[in-house]
Amino acid sequence: MSSADTYDVVIVGGGLGGMLSAVVLAKEGMKVCLLERDKQVGGCLQTFSLHKKVFDSCVHYIGGLGKGHTLHQIFRYAGIMDKLELKAYDENGFDRIAFGDEDILYPQAIGKENFIEQLLSCFPAERQALEEYMKAITTVGDSFPLYRLRHGSADEKAAVSNWGLTKTLQGLTSNKKLQNVLLGNNLLYAGEAGKTPFYLHALVLESYIHSSHKVYPGSSQIAKFLWKELQAHGGEVHRNTEVTKLNEEQGIITHAETKDGQRFYGKQFIAAVHPEILLDMVDSDMLRPAYRKRIKALQQTVSTFMLNMVLKPGTVPMRNYNIYWNASEDAFAAVNYTANQWPANYAAFFTADETNPGYAESISVLSYMHYEEVAKWTDTLNRAGAEHERGNNYITFKEQKTELLLQKLYERLPELKGNIAAHTSATPLTYRDYTGTPAGSLYGILKDVNKPAETTIATRTKIPNLLMTGQNVNLHGVLGVSITAIATCAELLGMEYLLGKMKQEHHL
Ligand SMILES: Cc1cc2nc3c(=O)[nH]c(=O)nc-3n(C[C@H](O)[C@H](O)[C@H](O)COP(=O)(O)OP(=O)(O)OC[C@H]3O[C@@H](n4cnc5c(N)ncnc54)[C@H](O)[C@@H]3O)c2cc1C
Repeated sequence: MSSADTYDVVIVGGGLGGMLSAVVLAKEGMKVCLLERDKQVGGCLQTFSLHKKVFDSCVHYIGGLGKGHTLHQIFRYAGIMDKLELKAYDENGFDRIAFGDEDILYPQAIGKENFIEQLLSCFPAERQALEEYMKAITTVGDSFPLYRLRHGSADEKAAVSNWGLTKTLQGLTSNKKLQNVLLGNNLLYAGEAGKTPFYLHALVLESYIHSSHKVYPGSSQIAKFLWKELQAHGGEVHRNTEVTKLNEEQGIITHAETKDGQRFYGKQFIAAVHPEILLDMVDSDMLRPAYRKRIKALQQTVSTFMLNMVLKPGTVPMRNYNIYWNASEDAFAAVNYTANQWPANYAAFFTADETNPGYAESISVLSYMHYEEVAKWTDTLNRAGAEHERGNNYITFKEQKTELLLQKLYERLPELKGNIAAHTSATPLTYRDYTGTPAGSLYGILKDVNKPAETTIATRTKIPNLLMTGQNVNLHGVLGVSITAIATCAELLGMEYLLGKMKQEHHL
């Protein structure tokens, strides 16, 4: 295109962050163009099928989609809430936490009162601690204005941002088991002892305790409906369009340049990709070497191995909850596993078989995996549109890991044995290649309560018409990325105005 066809906003990256920002801005009358490297839009919202069964590549369940929560309001404003088919999880335990070979499954339940009541059956002496815990996560939620769709001040956040997760839980109860049950699903935020801020845990957990849903038949529905909304408001989506350069001239970005030489001119640009990818695109000295060095040196959250299994019909009873298993009594230990101790944890997600009530049709299992385990295949690339085999050694590696994980799963789910009709697996390389996230990291940059300034990425950059959004800014996950998209769009539309519009539609 020529510079005469300038867009109001050019967005790089068609994951949830980019797509939701695009919809919000197009809805407010801007001429928006979204550039996505992949054949599919959605990034982490993508799904795939195996034996005609739909599998989520990342997002298995979402917190805060129930009425009255922020995510519900954001998705309603974006025009997609009523279109999503949701399946609710078990009220008395959406997640169940397990340790080692202990039989007990500790429930994390929906509803603040119910959460306390259900856990009291395992920890009868801990009512006060559980009530204090609930109060603490509510206080933190209230202190993040945008989490409640309020226009507040940064000071509110600052007052609770320096609480460490480990220390806060230790302050609430001396019962180690309860501390670890509360941390038992820390795969949701890739927590690390002594580093993870309490707010990260609180904002994520509060949303799931409010409401936990699976999008049926898969999370790609979110991307599909956002895309439709975008088109309805005149926005454009260009797939198979990898941006290689954001050109800076006289202090502003003029255009995005793609791998195949196309140029997209815009007044404003939003990077909805990992900050490291953005830095490689912008060779302007407005982004100072010290800033570049700091970003490149940041620790990323751990990656994961994923095993997806299609089950023989009518063999494995459905669980309407997820199982989070930790090999150690210490729920933070898994992230520091050594290769010969693998798997050190897993999260198992079940999908109901609609034709066989009471049974599961498939199971997906995630288990932390360090990128180092697959580093010898770093130079390979395999994703839709760029398919290249990584070689037989890699296939053998995946088979060995699959077998180790299965052996561990059989201990708790013996009915799985002999009843897997087909399976497939993914490694940190798969995530790296599909999302562009360095080292296939689960949630991007690791938030460290000891280094708040260094590990917090702002929506604004030093280049006035270049903004950022996505999971590395503020908070990850469907809820976190959606809130961040609102924060990014507010930079262009005004926070008061945007929140006003969202509330107005809410009352219609
Ligand atoms: C294994 C896994 C499980 C998860 N499970 C859950 C869950 O159950 N619930 C939940 O709420 N959250 C979950 N998350 C987190 C959630 O999926 C993410 O935080 C969120 O979807 C990230 O959205 P995003 O837009 O920031 O990034 P992404 O989805 O990564 O999107 C980035 C997009 O940018 C594109 N891109 C990259 N480089 C370029 C380029 N040069 N040019 C153009 N496009 C480019 C990529 O192709 C991609 O589409 C999970 C994440 C992972 C990895």
